Amino acid sequence: MSFLIDLECGACGEHHAADELQNLCPACGKPLLARYDLTSAGQTLTKEALELREPTLWRYREVLPVREDDYIVSLGEGGTPLVHTDRLGETLGMDALYIKDESLNPTGSFKARGLCMAVSRAAELGATALAIPSAGNAAGAMAAYAAKAGLPAYVFMPRDTPAAFIIECYAHGAHVELIDGLITDCGQIVAERKDQEGWFDVSTLKEPYRIEGKKTMGYELAEQFGWELPDVIFYPAGGGTGLIGMWKAFAEMEELGWIGPKRPRMVAVQATGCQPIVRAYEQNWEDAPEWENAHTLASGLRVPRAVGDFLMLRAIRESDGCAIAVSDEEMIGGVREIGSTEGIFAAPEGGAVLAALKTMLNDGRVDRSEQVVLFNTGSGHKYVDNMSGLKVDDQT
Ligand SMILES: *Cc1c(COP(=O)(O)O)cnc(C)c1O
Ligand SMILES: [Zn+2]
Repeated sequence: MSFLIDLECGACGEHHAADELQNLCPACGKPLLARYDLTSAGQTLTKEALELREPTLWRYREVLPVREDDYIVSLGEGGTPLVHTDRLGETLGMDALYIKDESLNPTGSFKARGLCMAVSRAAELGATALAIPSAGNAAGAMAAYAAKAGLPAYVFMPRDTPAAFIIECYAHGAHVELIDGLITDCGQIVAERKDQEGWFDVSTLKEPYRIEGKKTMGYELAEQFGWELPDVIFYPAGGGTGLIGMWKAFAEMEELGWIGPKRPRMVAVQATGCQPIVRAYEQNWEDAPEWENAHTLASGLRVPRAVGDFLMLRAIRESDGCAIAVSDEEMIGGVREIGSTEGIFAAPEGGAVLAALKTMLNDGRVDRSEQVVLFNTGSGHKYVDNMSGLKVDDQT
């Protein structure tokens, strides 16, 4: 069962009821975060109990928000491999370099984690239609889980989103609208029309439960590392749900008594063509204003403004981490290197974190002896239209 108590605003701290449909904090318009009775949850959710549970993210049942099992909409998400990179690690002189391979989730990206949770909980709380603005993978994941739940899905994507992302939504029976603009423009349209149309808005961090699905990456990492967190985590940050979610998971696990105070340095990786968090980090700002003319082939990083910006920046700074940008060319180079050494066809976002690691090895911000995790957040397959740069002509 779930030990969800209520929702707490990440900005003003006000508490709100969890058992009704909620979007942003009614008091201040910032994201709401779920709180659990961890003392009670810890009675049944123990490290020993976990050994016997199913290898999906639902193994952390007590600290997930869905109250009734009947409402769980699952396609087998979570439980992704933590791959020790023998060959890639060797080329970098690292013994403890790992890839958390999220491409093996349903719908080919870690968006499945967040959207299975948001869709399940929205269904439980009585939503009758769902809407989402998406730069790519979120739309397909939402459409898939909505289909499984029997709810109509309305997705809004930039018109220049690669075809695979759009066709995936059609395959799941979603209503698709292509917009001349960016994800922020799509979000605007959902916000304007949702009341009249009767849609529940499942935008990143504009409802409280996608982050609850994504936080399970933090639980899994701890479990896969034997309850000792790694030294550094490289995460490709768009809206930042995964980064904020893992940071929340670490705090919950410490309260459960599973881990100590040691935290990884959280490195947020963005694209040089869209780096609002990097700029805010470098300027010492608490919020990240909109990035103008955002462009990158990494669809998941084409997020010019994030509603959870302050939470991301807080986690990066508290962890003594940083934010760093890499070019699209470097991402493609990273995809080729991961693919040709480890057999993983990474999304450009996954290539980006490798490029960032290399920069930080060179400038000494990461030591080769450290335990490092790279997040490959999605599969490369949906991006092939934009990855012609991968072809190496002189290769025999
Ligand atoms: C959405 C997405 C991201 C960014 O994730 P956030 O948690 O929103 O920061 C990174 N990589 C891929 C492949 C994505 O689809
Ligand atoms: Zn608030």
